[in-house]
Amino acid sequence: MRELAPGVWVHEGAQAEPDADNLGDVANIGFVIGGDCVAVIDGGASLAVGRALRAALRTRTALPVCHRIATHMHPDHVLGLAAFDGTGPQQRDPTMVGHARLAAALGQRSTGYRAAMQREIGAAGASPEPPRPGRTVDPQAPLLLALGEQTLHLQAHPPAHTDNDLSVWLPAAGVLWTGDLLFHQRVPALDGRLRGWQAWTGAQRARDCGVDGPHAAGGPQGAAASPHWIVPGHGPVLRHDGRPDSPWCTALGAQAVYLDGLAQTVRSALDAGLSLGDLLRREGAEGAPSAKDTSAQGGSGQDRPARPATGTGGPGPAQASGAVGWALYALYHRRNLSAAWAELEWE
Ligand SMILES: [Zn+2]
Repeated sequence: MRELAPGVWVHEGAQAEPDADNLGDVANIGFVIGGDCVAVIDGGASLAVGRALRAALRTRTALPVCHRIATHMHPDHVLGLAAFDGTGPQQRDPTMVGHARLAAALGQRSTGYRAAMQREIGAAGASPEPPRPGRTVDPQAPLLLALGEQTLHLQAHPPAHTDNDLSVWLPAAGVLWTGDLLFHQRVPALDGRLRGWQAWTGAQRARDCGVDGPHAAGGPQGAAASPHWIVPGHGPVLRHDGRPDSPWCTALGAQAVYLDGLAQTVRSALDAGLSLGDLLRREGAEGAPSAKDTSAQGGSGQDRPARPATGTGGPGPAQASGAVGWALYALYHRRNLSAAWAELEWE
């Protein structure tokens, strides 16, 4: 684990799908140790990963865990949080905190998520039902959690990566925890609303990187001031020194290019009268699936794409952006096209 600021600890998960080797340690997870208690932020894809996080916490503090925060519904972020049962004050369960829409999303999906993780990870992937939120955050009203010296500002967002994205801003430490609103060195997986995700990405760039764009004005941003450290949902932690070429701005720019390219590709296909099947066949030629990517087929139920198909066609905007080199590109790009299609065909 890495300490970004006093008491602010993060563990970077592998850039991979959950499997028997990584046990579901595939997302960025961590905790904030305050003066009187602890907040855990995401717990990994299995009870095993959550227990390892709990053990890492206990080597650093004996303080109780007051809050376990879920950045969104996906199994690689929430299933490990059950490992913190009984770690609260007086051995009670810490309060689960999430977006106002998190409970409904878990109600629809958590059974499928648990089955899928056990299938992908094996017996060690078994997890109980993820805890349901005891405190929720609405996009109109950020929630402040005081932990002694650290105050966590929890911001719920309009639909973007999912319909229940929550970011965590620690002003005293200058750390912004984005959850999967930012994917770094990995293809973004769209499971919410493309235009909302473009708006969030544009708003961060406008605030921190001096980039104005059509999507710059968009909803709650999640941090009132520029962060110094950014914990993405996946990929290495990022630095921001205030310059427009900082790693944070570079990662935001790459995500913006990918999301804008996705929108452009789908709109062009719709304008040309193509069917979704035509588009998927054409885009299937982009980024030939690697052995790893194709072997991962079989269903985490998280962001599961259709089976990659072969096809013919020239490079698209995503390839031009360099996104084809991102981890898990072949696995998720086609699924993103389908999700974007379902949204944009009604424009
Ligand atoms: Zn996610």
